[in-house]
Amino acid sequence: MKLKIIGSNSKGNSYLLENDNEALLIECGVKLPVIKKAINYNLSKILGCIVTHEHQDHCVSIKEVMKAGVDVYASKGTLDILNCSGHRANVISSKTPFSVGGFKVLPFDAKHDAAEPLGFLINHIETGNVLFITDSYYCPYIFDNLNNIIVEANFSEKIIDSKMEKGSIAPFLRDRILKSHMSLETCKKLLKSNDLSKVNNIVLIHLSDGNSDETQFVKEVKELTCKNVYAANAGMTIDFDKRPF
Ligand SMILES: [Zn+2]
Ligand SMILES: [Zn+2]
Repeated sequence: MKLKIIGSNSKGNSYLLENDNEALLIECGVKLPVIKKAINYNLSKILGCIVTHEHQDHCVSIKEVMKAGVDVYASKGTLDILNCSGHRANVISSKTPFSVGGFKVLPFDAKHDAAEPLGFLINHIETGNVLFITDSYYCPYIFDNLNNIIVEANFSEKIIDSKMEKGSIAPFLRDRILKSHMSLETCKKLLKSNDLSKVNNIVLIHLSDGNSDETQFVKEVKELTCKNVYAANAGMTIDFDKRPF
């Protein structure tokens, strides 16, 4: 199984878990032609698209994706706000597992300024357990037997604090960021509180343009975990099989 990064920032998020036979789209926050290109124009290979929440950088093409014949899965709060209905719109809820082809998905509630945001624990025989969490300033859960992790590291508290001192960030904006997105510091706490012994890859996603430092983030998480650590960039493909332990 490969993880393809189609987009990963506030301009658009979309990720593809893909093997020779099937694919799961995570988020559709980029235009449909960009998704089509990423799957080599074989859209029928995408068995479903799971969406975390209603912000456009995560779901801008949700209606086009459904029109193209792909089932989407999101919370009731998300689908209602986006005015999405019909047989392609599947309501999912926190702590209720469902399957999309060979992918088993367990949604859980995320902490974000959205109607009913979710994170996902995805299981596939090839990848093992994949944690996907974005747009969540905090995660109260511990996950068992993780094999791969895709986690937001949006900003650094240090960068935000130094911007505050210089007056180059407004207090309301600082508060909004702190109460909606995951900092590198929180990301590291989350990683530390989980058993990483079977983890192969850690992919840092949704890095903010102005408030992050990709090289430093990767370095710090590598030092903390001794794993394969990546900062997600569009066009990147990562081997996402679980390690043969
Ligand atoms: Zn976002
Ligand atoms: Zn958001």
